[in-house]
Amino acid sequence: MPRLRRHSFCLPALAVLATVGVSAFGSDAPEQMTPLLLSVPDAPVPFNGSDGRTHLVYELAMTNFSSSVIAPEKVEVLGDGKVLETLDAAAIATRLQPAGQRESAASLPRSTAALLFLHVILESGAPIPNQITHRVTLRAAAAPPGHQELIETGGATTVDRQPVVVIGPPLQGSGYISADSCCDATRHTRAVLPIDGRASISQRMAVDWEQVDSERRIYAGPREKPESYAIYGKPVIAVADATVVDSANDQRTQTPGKFPSEITPAEADGNFVILDLGQHRYALYAHMQPGSVRVHKGDRVTRGEVIGLVGNTGNTIAPHLHFQVMDGPSSLASNGLPYEIDSFEITGSTPGTAAFDKAEAEGTPLTITHVSPPKAVTDSLPLDQLVISFPQR
Ligand SMILES: [Zn+2]
Repeated sequence: MPRLRRHSFCLPALAVLATVGVSAFGSDAPEQMTPLLLSVPDAPVPFNGSDGRTHLVYELAMTNFSSSVIAPEKVEVLGDGKVLETLDAAAIATRLQPAGQRESAASLPRSTAALLFLHVILESGAPIPNQITHRVTLRAAAAPPGHQELIETGGATTVDRQPVVVIGPPLQGSGYISADSCCDATRHTRAVLPIDGRASISQRMAVDWEQVDSERRIYAGPREKPESYAIYGKPVIAVADATVVDSANDQRTQTPGKFPSEITPAEADGNFVILDLGQHRYALYAHMQPGSVRVHKGDRVTRGEVIGLVGNTGNTIAPHLHFQVMDGPSSLASNGLPYEIDSFEITGSTPGTAAFDKAEAEGTPLTITHVSPPKAVTDSLPLDQLVISFPQR
């Protein structure tokens, strides 16, 4: 049967921005003008969070295909037809980010695109849905009075059930903070780059590991000295038996306390290692000390092997280990994937990113709510702003 092809279509001005009363190809659903185009560029990959829940983290792409502003008023995420999550206008305004901007917005000006950053936490014991779609209630100013309120359904996607890679820890010892980790911290989860013709988020699930000392300080002594930081010089270890895809070892140490100027994208990771974990999963370790990276392209590493030392190279404001898993060997042009660490303990939590940033800037003790006794966690992704102990080999 030939494809149906329409030609000479005239765009009805948004004056009829409502239901067009034509039955579409045997479906009972009437055709509808949808001035807000919806799609999901990267289907969510469900994973276990360290809270014991299943999480879905992904983006709903929105394009305002109209001549005036569109304000989404409600977004419902539907899993196999059931409402999993509802965002009201206030929640949307904190999660809708216009293309190329770092600040969120409440609406889309005419002819613009944005991403809505979604984080669905499934009820304990609830089945993982197969199909996700979205019901968006919106106000389209281009439509005539009486027709401006619309409900669209779109952005249908199949949940990506590829197995999540289970790995060992990237560090050893205690007092590590999972800074800017999944799923609502913005610095990694929303690090969208237009690269090689598409918007990519290789850092979607990245963590900036930092560490506090016995007095809960991130650094003690001069802020601008890397050696002042608790994590500086700690051994970085291979998370699995793997092959080295790429590494760098000769980038100079930056002065903590401010971001370096004139860093190119190619230099942003500083001294790094990328490991091929197999089955299209790759691990990136970034910002290590110059001269400390002891593995090279093509080397085989074994789990637990020291591959370098935590440093402050590349685009960094303080010594830390940036770690992420992605679907390709490029640290930029790849899709960030969840992963699960097979064994760690949660010993506490911080009040959040703002408190962490203050402690990192001032060297003052970080307020920590202790978890006593420590919570042993298996096969989970460490969520944001936890204090973590890794096994000491
Ligand atoms: Zn980072």
